[in-house]
Amino acid sequence: MKNEDSLLVQLIQAFKVLPGIGEKSAQRMSFHLLEKNKEGALNLSKLISKAVENIRNCSQCRNLTEQDICDICLDEKRDKTVLCVVESPTDVLAIENSGSFKGKYFVLMGRLSPIDGITPQDLGIPKLIESILNEDRKEVIIATSPTIEGDATSFYIKDQLSEKNILISRIAYGVPMGGELEYVDNTTLGRAIQGRREIN
Ligand code: ZN
Repeated sequence: MKNEDSLLVQLIQAFKVLPGIGEKSAQRMSFHLLEKNKEGALNLSKLISKAVENIRNCSQCRNLTEQDICDICLDEKRDKTVLCVVESPTDVLAIENSGSFKGKYFVLMGRLSPIDGITPQDLGIPKLIESILNEDRKEVIIATSPTIEGDATSFYIKDQLSEKNILISRIAYGVPMGGELEYVDNTTLGRAIQGRREIN
């Protein structure tokens, strides 16, 4: 058996699928699991397979869920007239933890980036626009990140809804330029939602 075929080498290589994980970190994680925490390693491997097999995108908002329609979409107590558009499931978690929003969500799973070949279709924007127009939404809060791509995504969505009688706002207050929502503290994020501004 060649060295590069060994399970250890394969395991180290497998860890490198994670963002920001290079050779050294992959080695450290592999050795830790094999030497210090075999039980944790087995549990992790079981949960990864189970999660990958069972978690999918909500058929309405695209957030991650084990059901066809997620709990937030099914929740009758939430305000259907206000829709918050975010880039990722971690943004939904961050906004939910801030406790400042009781409407519904739409998760783009990315942001427009012509350089990387990411189109409005990839982000489900046609479906988003259709749902806004068909489901009596009165306000759309665009909470994409304050980055060049996040802004471009926001402008694109706003443009698709021009001449429709819908209030469109963009969170701005307190969210640092170039920042990712998941790293913003709850209070700042709560204020950013409350301090949203209509896009003109
Ligand atoms: Zn949903």
